[in-house]
Amino acid sequence: MSDYDYDLFVIGGGSGGVRAARIAATHGARVGIAEEYRYGGTCVIRGCVPKKLFVYASKFSEEFEDAEGFGWSVGERTFSWQKLVAAKDQEITRLEGIYRRNLERTNVEVHDSRAVLEDAHTVRLLSTGQTVTAKYILIAVGASPNVDSGLPGGEHVITSNEAFHMSELPGKVVVSGGGYIAVEFAGIFNGLGVDTTLIYRGEEILRGFDMDLRTTVRQEMEKKGIKVILNDTFASIDKMPDGSLLGKTSGGKILSADRIMFAIGRNPHTRDLGLERAGVEVDGSGAIRVTPDSRTNVDNIYAVGDVTNRANLTPVAIREGHAFADTVFGGNPWTVDHSLIATAVFSQPEMGTVGLTQEEALKRTPDLDIYKSSFRPMKHTLSGRDEKMLMKMIVDAKTQRVLGVHIVGPDAGELAQILGVTLQMGATKADFDRTIAVHPTAAEELVTMREPTERLRG
Ligand SMILES: Cc1cc2nc3c(=O)[nH]c(=O)nc-3n(C[C@H](O)[C@H](O)[C@H](O)COP(=O)(O)OP(=O)(O)OC[C@H]3O[C@@H](n4cnc5c(N)ncnc54)[C@H](O)[C@@H]3O)c2cc1C
Repeated sequence: MSDYDYDLFVIGGGSGGVRAARIAATHGARVGIAEEYRYGGTCVIRGCVPKKLFVYASKFSEEFEDAEGFGWSVGERTFSWQKLVAAKDQEITRLEGIYRRNLERTNVEVHDSRAVLEDAHTVRLLSTGQTVTAKYILIAVGASPNVDSGLPGGEHVITSNEAFHMSELPGKVVVSGGGYIAVEFAGIFNGLGVDTTLIYRGEEILRGFDMDLRTTVRQEMEKKGIKVILNDTFASIDKMPDGSLLGKTSGGKILSADRIMFAIGRNPHTRDLGLERAGVEVDGSGAIRVTPDSRTNVDNIYAVGDVTNRANLTPVAIREGHAFADTVFGGNPWTVDHSLIATAVFSQPEMGTVGLTQEEALKRTPDLDIYKSSFRPMKHTLSGRDEKMLMKMIVDAKTQRVLGVHIVGPDAGELAQILGVTLQMGATKADFDRTIAVHPTAAEELVTMREPTERLRG
């Protein structure tokens, strides 16, 4: 029995923290956890889950339109934002309860409090002022939305946090940002009938993804009525006497809106956490520096998830938390492979991707075979909707190994999951070729692309 109150104390009850706490407890550790807001963390409370529910809600407008091509007459449609928010809140509360119960079931001591470090083994719980000690401490405090603090009128904007709780659906919105959260929210607003503009300072939205997908998604968003402004950004925002907002951009545009939402990145949540008292190092962005096994520069303090700014996704945080607990408390050391992460963007149309983009693949080898297919999904032959699906496969010309697969279109995220398995297994183009198609599906295109559309040779 050690002299500490706990073998492990976890700060942050989100994806990474909860997984680590539960697994460590099942390995026999005495575990405490503190959460300052709601158990489940960003993903469950104000991230992936409510976002996806909103995406579902926003897609019905097109579903109703498309139904007519199949013989349906859809009568008058009305939408209640308040009903949607209430239903979403109910589901989030249910999920939060599950998270809390699962912790309690594994005998993790749950504290509802902000926690800060006092030293390398001591944590202060701010709700009571109580201090607790632990042999190991795991920091899993996530990240929070970055609002441009220097922007005149920046206090008038909302972030994704507030977007989930607006009392009314605005008539007109401008979303600032080009990352997946900005793009997803632009699609949500637009689908719910809001006059939507997306403004992004870069050349093209969705930096970091394959360029063909980035352009395709942007063009399809524009077809759906979203106004996309590139190479520009807000210079100031004023609140008008009627409560509406008037934004001026660096490029000289004037944009009026009922709401302006900023999704311009997320900052590791490390401010005022007491890291300096414990001697934990951060990088220039405030992210905690860790080794591949999530250890900080202080031997008994570890960090997982968004606070380490490695790959800021829920399944990654969960994996890192699990690996930490198995390594430190389960006698089974392992590390997370961050090199091949399948992921989805719930833009409209959706994006699913795994492996290297063409730009990244070219850095590895100049000899690539590119297979690309752009087609109208079968559903839209009758719906009449002018929407294209894109599939792109990047193959190493010498080894024939598939380096990346990128998809825009219905269910692209679902496809990415299973493509992730094939790429993990080292699939070659021949493996895809000898796989019999599933017909009629869109996915069959993946196994029927015979000739490269481009042969790049160094
Ligand atoms: C709008 C949005 C949509 C997203 N969509 C997706 C998606 O579709 N797919 C995906 O994989 N990822 C998505 N993400 C990212 C995902 O939510 C994060 O990667 C994930 O939640 C990170 O988990 P974490 O454990 O590192 O941190 P979090 O889940 O953020 O948990 C950290 C927790 O720590 C708490 N906390 C912070 N400081 C303290 C303190 N001092 N004391 C006590 N508690 C503290 C916070 O309240 C929070 O609950 C989305 C994020 C957002 C914002």
